[in-house]
Amino acid sequence: MTRRLTEIAHELVAGHVHAGDIVIDATMGNGHDTLFLAQLVGETGHVYAFDVQQQAIDQTRGRLDTHGAAKQVTLIRGNHADMLGRLPVGIAGSVAAVIFNLGYLPGGDKSVTTMAESTLLALDASLELIRSGGLISLLVYVGHAGGIEEHQVITEWLEKAGSRARWKHHNPGCAAHAPRLYTLVRS
Ligand code: SAM
Repeated sequence: MTRRLTEIAHELVAGHVHAGDIVIDATMGNGHDTLFLAQLVGETGHVYAFDVQQQAIDQTRGRLDTHGAAKQVTLIRGNHADMLGRLPVGIAGSVAAVIFNLGYLPGGDKSVTTMAESTLLALDASLELIRSGGLISLLVYVGHAGGIEEHQVITEWLEKAGSRARWKHHNPGCAAHAPRLYTLVRS
């Protein structure tokens, strides 16, 4: 189901991104989403990808190199909560999409997870960064420590953002422990 949700997320993102666009991967992990974004925007576009772990940077760099897609990507080791300060001045309002795939690094240290407080700051920043018609994709897991709280604050944030954007839950009625996919499109 998770795989399917990542595929659905990619399809939705692709509907809002064109070659030459600027996009952000807020949680690069093993680099699957970063590579997908790099191929979508091409060499005339740019991807900024964040992760707090060096292992994620190394994995992602290797994946991009293998596919010849490193040129259009900047890998940033840091907290996505600080993304506004880590990105070039002037891109606010021009970003086509931001992808979040929350939780822990598969194959890595499961104790390092995204957390409600920093996720919320990153979501606020993302809303400043995306352009009108730009999309934020959120794949949210509830199984890790703090996952239920993180999901709760995300749904509250989506409700509040509703005045500036349209949001949707793509797998309503899912099992209690299942990942959930949300998207938000800026008005
Ligand atoms: N998108 C990835 C892919 O395609 O393989 C999967 C991401 S993985 C589920 C979640 C990642 O979020 C982990 O690599 C973890 O280190 C990272 N992470 C946790 N807290 C973070 C934070 N505050 N800022 C940025 N990344 C964070």
